[in-house]
Amino acid sequence: LRQELIKSEKLAVISHLAASISHEVRNPLTASRGFMQLLQQGYTSPEKMRTFLDIAIKELDRAEGIIQDYLTFAKPAEDKKEAINVSSEIKKIVEILQPLANMNSVELDFSLAPYMVFGERSKFKQCVINVAKNAIEAMPEGGKLSLHIERKGDYVYLNVSDTGVGMTKEQVDRLGEPFFTTREKGTGLGMMVVYSIVDSFGGKVKVKSEKGLGTTFTILLPMYKNAVEVIG
Ligand code: ADP
Ligand code: MG
Repeated sequence: LRQELIKSEKLAVISHLAASISHEVRNPLTASRGFMQLLQQGYTSPEKMRTFLDIAIKELDRAEGIIQDYLTFAKPAEDKKEAINVSSEIKKIVEILQPLANMNSVELDFSLAPYMVFGERSKFKQCVINVAKNAIEAMPEGGKLSLHIERKGDYVYLNVSDTGVGMTKEQVDRLGEPFFTTREKGTGLGMMVVYSIVDSFGGKVKVKSEKGLGTTFTILLPMYKNAVEVIG
């Protein structure tokens, strides 16, 4: 119950967060612009110039990271809610992730099953990508990322497993907390977005993790009852 309470507090925080996130993107942009202006004026020593450029690049990477975790699939307006074929989306997601997996020597393993859920397609994608990206990033020395779909009762279970660094219980408890990150280039926004999206689908997230062995995220989403009518 305490966990449930903490999660609902987290969700309350999230709804006030949009402003703080646009601030988080604007800061690095403003800082980079400032450095460029200094360079433009041309009074700086070559060493200082390099330092300015290094900082500007870091700041821009940070802005890019925030946009990736938060806005990659965002639409200008709310997407319409619709029946989503989980398998076809997973296929697209695997294509998007393949280059990142290759770069990290991560083998991608997935299985498909013809289940439907109901909600905003762009949000579904953003959510799964954020979880899968974390999984790949948790395997700096390579490993295996598995994406499996199964059905249990009225829920579609989406299992995302990695053979990566794993988490301590303390880390697991902090998942979804805005700006909680253990990665040098992390934003700490990815999981917050995941929890908020899964909540909007009426679903749940379960986490099993063992330090040094790996992690399984299970995303439970209510199965869309009229799947048969939709498929025709
Ligand atoms: P970021 O990826 O920018 O750090 P996230 O909100 O996506 O932010 O994740 C927060 C933190 O949760 C990560 O920094 C990491 O410590 C932990 N984490 C999430 N997924 C995994 C995973 N699959 N394996 C190990 N740690 C993870
Ligand atoms: Mg992340």
